[in-house]
Amino acid sequence: KTHLRKEIQPLIRIENIKVAPEGAMAALTGEAARLLKIPAKSIVSMDVVRRSIDAREDVKLVYTVEVQVRDEEKIFKRIHNPRISLTGRKKHNNYNPPMSPTPALPPVVIGAGPAGLFAALTLAMAGLRPIVLEQGQAVEERKLSVDTFWQGGDLNLYSNVQFGEGGAGAFSDGKLSTGTKDAYHRWILEQMVLAGAPEEILVNAQPHIGTDKLYAMLIGLRRHLQSLGADIRFSHRVTDYAITDGSITGLHVQSPDGSYDLPASTVMLCLGHSARDSFQLLHEKGVSMEAKPFSVGVRIEHSQKQCDVAQYKQYAGHPALGAATYKLSCHLENGRSAYSFCVCPGGQVVAAASEAGGVVTNGMSTFARDDKNINGGLLINITPDDYGATPQNPIAGIAFQRKLEQDAFALGGSDYKAPCQRVEDFLLNRPSTKCGSVEPTYRPGVVYTDLHQCLPAFVSESIAQALPLLGKRLKGYDDGDALLTGVETRSSSPVRIVREKNGQSSVEGLFPCGEGAGYAGGILSAAADGMRQAERLIYKLQGEQV
Ligand code: FAD
Repeated sequence: KTHLRKEIQPLIRIENIKVAPEGAMAALTGEAARLLKIPAKSIVSMDVVRRSIDAREDVKLVYTVEVQVRDEEKIFKRIHNPRISLTGRKKHNNYNPPMSPTPALPPVVIGAGPAGLFAALTLAMAGLRPIVLEQGQAVEERKLSVDTFWQGGDLNLYSNVQFGEGGAGAFSDGKLSTGTKDAYHRWILEQMVLAGAPEEILVNAQPHIGTDKLYAMLIGLRRHLQSLGADIRFSHRVTDYAITDGSITGLHVQSPDGSYDLPASTVMLCLGHSARDSFQLLHEKGVSMEAKPFSVGVRIEHSQKQCDVAQYKQYAGHPALGAATYKLSCHLENGRSAYSFCVCPGGQVVAAASEAGGVVTNGMSTFARDDKNINGGLLINITPDDYGATPQNPIAGIAFQRKLEQDAFALGGSDYKAPCQRVEDFLLNRPSTKCGSVEPTYRPGVVYTDLHQCLPAFVSESIAQALPLLGKRLKGYDDGDALLTGVETRSSSPVRIVREKNGQSSVEGLFPCGEGAGYAGGILSAAADGMRQAERLIYKLQGEQV
């Protein structure tokens, strides 16, 4: 069920038009006219609705376009081509969330990541004036805290790459592709554009925003939420949950001006995958949770130029193509899988720790993706059995992640530098002493060493098996000079906060949501989950008022 009202404008849609990168737009109009059997000047307007790159043999840009012509029905009747259809552009910008009478207590959203922000947007559009509690800072201040840490200064435990306005995805490549389908995705992208994201995210098959444009978009989204009556409180951390007779009745909040109790009867838990203190607290309070599989590994860094040549051949560096990317996976002899994760073309490996004494890697890029290296996670799947979870201890995955992060911290010299090794050295089981042609981008810096020392044996072995296999799929992936930086442990949540059918947890009024609750992965799917859960909260309020 969705709450989207669609407006339709008649158009002719042509799919799968392939043109060479050189002079692509002129060729596109000519090809559309040829397929419609009309002169190019009869095309009143043409919009690109999808753009992708096919680099399998020759490099081609692949377009879907919607064309406005006079007498579209007459023209369409003459053409018999399965790639051409008479259609209407669907405008999804009329989202009308379900409404409810104003409750005695406003709904509270914990966390201002994609799930929390879009949950708050749904609630605010329904006139419910949600309170948003975010332990981290607003993006402007958060950026300063993160820069300080990356320059070798202190780690701010509550405002860092994982925590703060925009959530875990604020310092990222801002990739918006997702493996899930949801009718709300398009509407979310439209809201992002209205808030300041580049318009091309509505068209590209592999859309991305980039960290620089994400900041601007988050500020736009914040202002929009505030204009709709949302009360957004940064540096307000929830430190306890009051549960009475199986229902949530309030929260305890730590703020810069001291702590306070906040009565609440409906709370959205949009905590993200790194909210270890809350997972522990909620588990102790009897909120039903399950251990879930996740993945760990390292970040691998290559020369972007080399990757461009491997993918785009003679077209490498062509401005219409941008920086090449990759998506790889393989099954290993030991029964595990290895896969690339969150690949950041033309980007940097980032220090993404949120706990003292731990090293965590991830990646980010700017919109231009114009740095000299491409980096991506190289991850190995692990199961609850690997980390000793039991029904009594569903949060055991946290201890497993933390040990890896602490071992990497120690191996990196105990000052947040990350352990790093050339691929050739890793495969020969010998420590690296320096880099080769690929220079590391991780700040505050790396220590050349032997990564086997901080990885569990099964993870090391799996990475060693995976590298040559993936090198067969992408030339140069297992290049001896490619760099491995460890450890990558926060790819998804190690727990699921169980939801009942009505979207609530085992505690009434508590709505687990987004990646931390184990129901989403990535910016777009977390945002959509936030909207769906906010609607369920509104249905609950409707039921209460009947
Ligand atoms: P989060 O974004 O994690 O937000 C949770 C928020 O809750 C945090 O801001 C946190 O501070 C707050 N919070 C937690 N506990 C409390 C508390 N007790 N009190 C108050 N506030 C609290 N995904 C993509 O789709 N594309 C990408 O390119 C991409 N790149 C990434 C790069 C990096 C460096 C990282 C770390 C992640 C990246 N991801 C990317 C993943 C993506 O960021 C997450 O999937 C997404 O942010 C999850 O959204 P969420 O709202 O569920 O949780």
